[in-house]
Amino acid sequence: GGFDAVFVAVGAHISKHVDIPHRDAGTFLDAVSFLSSANRGEPPRLGRRVAIYGGGNTAMDAARTAKRLGAEEAMIIYRRDRKSMPAHDFEADEALEEGVKINWLRTIKEIDRSTFKVEVMELDADGRPQPTGKFESLEADTLILAVGQDTDTAFLEAVPGIAFKPDHTVVVDENMMTGHAGIFAGGDMVPSERSVTVAVGHGKHAARHLDAWLKGSTYRRAPRHPLIGHEKLHLWYRTSAPQVEQARLPAKERAGTFDEILHNLSEDAALFEARRCLSCGNCFECDGCFGACPEDAIIKLGPGKRYQFNFDLCTGCAVCYEQCPCDAIEMTDETDETDVAQAANP
Ligand SMILES: Cc1cc2nc3c(=O)[nH]c(=O)nc-3n(C[C@H](O)[C@H](O)[C@H](O)COP(=O)(O)OP(=O)(O)OC[C@H]3O[C@@H](n4cnc5c(N)ncnc54)[C@H](O)[C@@H]3O)c2cc1C
Ligand code: SF4
Ligand code: SF4
Repeated sequence: GGFDAVFVAVGAHISKHVDIPHRDAGTFLDAVSFLSSANRGEPPRLGRRVAIYGGGNTAMDAARTAKRLGAEEAMIIYRRDRKSMPAHDFEADEALEEGVKINWLRTIKEIDRSTFKVEVMELDADGRPQPTGKFESLEADTLILAVGQDTDTAFLEAVPGIAFKPDHTVVVDENMMTGHAGIFAGGDMVPSERSVTVAVGHGKHAARHLDAWLKGSTYRRAPRHPLIGHEKLHLWYRTSAPQVEQARLPAKERAGTFDEILHNLSEDAALFEARRCLSCGNCFECDGCFGACPEDAIIKLGPGKRYQFNFDLCTGCAVCYEQCPCDAIEMTDETDETDVAQAANP
């Protein structure tokens, strides 16, 4: 109580389970608990060979963590192929570089001690895995389940108006508000792609709408410039420069360390790379038009303030327009002078 509005983003932390018939099986772990205990410095005993069931980023993290914790073998078992895996491609590449084995198109049918009976799958025309009736054996001492996470939204069930999807995610409208006025939600707990970028975007989107809702208004996005394509840019002054490579920890040095693999750019290198921005459609105060105007019709307003056009002096020669590197100037009919001024001074 005591709040007029709230944004809820509790994530999705309950590991899903699959029922696999097993006899005297070794250790079963769920990936999220395994990763958090490893993060706390209290990893469970894994044994020599670790199998990870799933094909998402969590499965990749679990396999790579198991390797770092000393597992001789870490193998992923995933029911689809590489093209259909939810994990980022680079995660799979890095896992393979580190010696993780990936068994694509396999499901675990049963476990007898350390022997995993897996069925070879094939994808049907809709990309769904289908059994083939062909079986293989794999050996592992521990199975880590990484078959997805559910969100725990039970605490919202008693709140009137809130609707849920069958997977317990909370339904929100286009403003990120649930069916209960004033309660907004976002991130993994709403039906959407689950990534950091999406969750951060939800937070930003919800904050704007929540602020407007508290003020009794509706948030409207400011109009945007039209998209400026590459064909409209005048890049005569640009030169080519190779991309600054970020240093990477070699695969053989990664065992036993949780150090970052991809190193940061130095400040100088980051600034250099940022200068590649073509500023499409946005004036970046290069002074090109100011210097090029034969009539001195362009007035410089100072850093960050851009320029003003003196239409009494402007002859409409278009010299400024033609040399603007980023197409920030728009030539319009002289009866509609304001558009020209706005283009370079938006
Ligand atoms: C192992 C793993 C690897 C991933 N790898 C990637 C990746 O490489 N790239 C990527 O983009 N995404 C990755 N993701 C997904 C990404 O982490 C999530 O999509 C993102 O963090 C979702 O943000 P969120 O704010 O919705 O939830 P979270 O980041 O999960 O934050 C929810 C917070 O709410 C707290 N909380 C939960 N319940 C309650 C409660 N009842 N009361 C108060 N607080 C509560 C939690 O403790 C947590 O701090 C990965 C996820 C996992 C599990
Ligand atoms: S309008 Fe174009 S040419 Fe003029 S200062 Fe801005 S970017 Fe440079
Ligand atoms: S169009 Fe007008 S502002 Fe642009 S260069 Fe010509 S005279 Fe100057």
